[in-house]
Amino acid sequence: MSAAYPWLDAAWQRLLATRRRPAQALLLAGPRGVGKGVLARAWAQALLCEAAVADGACGACPACHWFETGGHPDFLHVGLQEKTSKEGETRLATAIEVDQARAAVDFVQLSTYRAGHRVVLVDPADSLNVAAANALLKVLEEPPLNTVFVLVSDQPRRLLPTIRSRCTRIDIGLPPAAEAAAWLEAQGVDDVDTLLALSGGAPLDALQWTDGDELEVRQGVLEGLAQPARLDAVTQGERWKGVSPVTWHNVVSKWLGDLLGVRLGGSAQFNRDFAAALAKLGPQASLPRLLALAREQADAGRTLTHPLNRALQLQAWLVRYRHVFEEDKR
Ligand SMILES: [Zn+2]
Repeated sequence: MSAAYPWLDAAWQRLLATRRRPAQALLLAGPRGVGKGVLARAWAQALLCEAAVADGACGACPACHWFETGGHPDFLHVGLQEKTSKEGETRLATAIEVDQARAAVDFVQLSTYRAGHRVVLVDPADSLNVAAANALLKVLEEPPLNTVFVLVSDQPRRLLPTIRSRCTRIDIGLPPAAEAAAWLEAQGVDDVDTLLALSGGAPLDALQWTDGDELEVRQGVLEGLAQPARLDAVTQGERWKGVSPVTWHNVVSKWLGDLLGVRLGGSAQFNRDFAAALAKLGPQASLPRLLALAREQADAGRTLTHPLNRALQLQAWLVRYRHVFEEDKR
């Protein structure tokens, strides 16, 4: 197997060159949507593969089979867990907790099942809370034999400096715009420029927008949000309650980000196709209210399922959104 995406090729070759003596603590850092997670998994599989070929894992041995079906006993992914609230709403946790880190520490103390490498993938590593990071730090300082930690991070500055300094770091940047555009075109994507802007230049994020009806949903939501004075919270809340929470979060976060950018004197970074509407709307926004709404959106964590009261929740949000643009009555 070669690198999954052409822009990962240099990093992949760099990793392969270390296969005999892999870094025991590796940090793959770079913006989201460039395939760091895919690269990390390919590397884990290459290390665990029992019939490795020149460009990675063989894809056919028992180890590859277990890895690909999620059951390799010498592989552990430490990530964000799903949590279900009393209201039946499933969210991704916002942090990796200390008990998960302790489980990883226990895992690496065991002997390996297959007498080869043992790989712990920590993704997203910047979500380790302080206690979890400290628990992990001890094994990162002195990893047991044949143990490889692969940390993946969009925001490496959020990692404890002591963790960062233990890791061999490989930075995965955004591909040049022309390369990203060519790749997307080769995937059969239309309107590559809008999608790349929407995704901050990250090709895999751009590709995700073409899944299902996401773009259409975005168009409808943004047309509504672009005219807050005419936004009827009750009607729109009902209409949009079926929008997947992940799509909603994506669309709204970027919209609020653009509004903030414009309000602060910049221009629309993500929604360039709505630049005119944003330019008109941004200056009308109350900065404190917009900041509060944007911050809340960022902190909310990703909701994965529809809560029972989704329409109500949206209606409450829309009322607040509209309030961002309303002048205070005296
Ligand atoms: Zn294999």
